[in-house]
Amino acid sequence: MSRNNILIVVAGPSGVGKGTVCKKLFRHMDDLEFSVSATTRKAREGEKEGVNYFFVSDAKFDNMVKNEEFLEYADVFDNRYGTPKDYVFSKLKSGKDVLLEIDVQGAVMVMQSCRDAVFIFILPPSIEEQRNRLLSRGTECEEQLNLRMNKAKEEIGYAEKFDYIVINEDVDTAANEIMSIITSEKLKVSRNEQIIKELINS
Ligand code: 5GP
Repeated sequence: MSRNNILIVVAGPSGVGKGTVCKKLFRHMDDLEFSVSATTRKAREGEKEGVNYFFVSDAKFDNMVKNEEFLEYADVFDNRYGTPKDYVFSKLKSGKDVLLEIDVQGAVMVMQSCRDAVFIFILPPSIEEQRNRLLSRGTECEEQLNLRMNKAKEEIGYAEKFDYIVINEDVDTAANEIMSIITSEKLKVSRNEQIIKELINS
């Protein structure tokens, strides 16, 4: 019996821990595929082309924008990131659920074109904790830290547009909550009308 596959969009401010939470999910959900984005930023140590990102030049990124190859794209702190449409739709067609782990602006852009996607916003337990998490990465100077904190507060204002919020106080709990959301969404009648029709017609 055929179920519809779903597109899940996980967003939240920089440093909230979305990457860590999403990594946990993939260990538990076999049918879930990570959408590999294109970016103009340089690969970090250990990152692999086509696994973590498709690393592209600015010119190539411009070309992809021009050719409407992106489902969404955004500038995130001096670098550009975009979700390749073909990659996502071919995974969905092949029977997988697809998860985008992207920034807030990008998620809002996806809301305009993919109304039946599931939008999850990851929140920090408090603003102090968000600041501590950014501080503990040790990658930002005071000025950058303040910039990121202001941006985080502005982004949190968009949480109301999302379907669900998950507070990342504890990574395992947050990952379990997202798994519950995905499971419930997959069981919605509106996503399973084909199954009902197949049963009636058999
Ligand atoms: P990083 O460079 O640390 O891997 O990611 C920086 C930020 O860019 C993170 O908030 C991440 O979620 C976001 N990001 C990664 N890929 C995409 C994408 O395809 N589109 C958008 N809008 N944001 C992305």
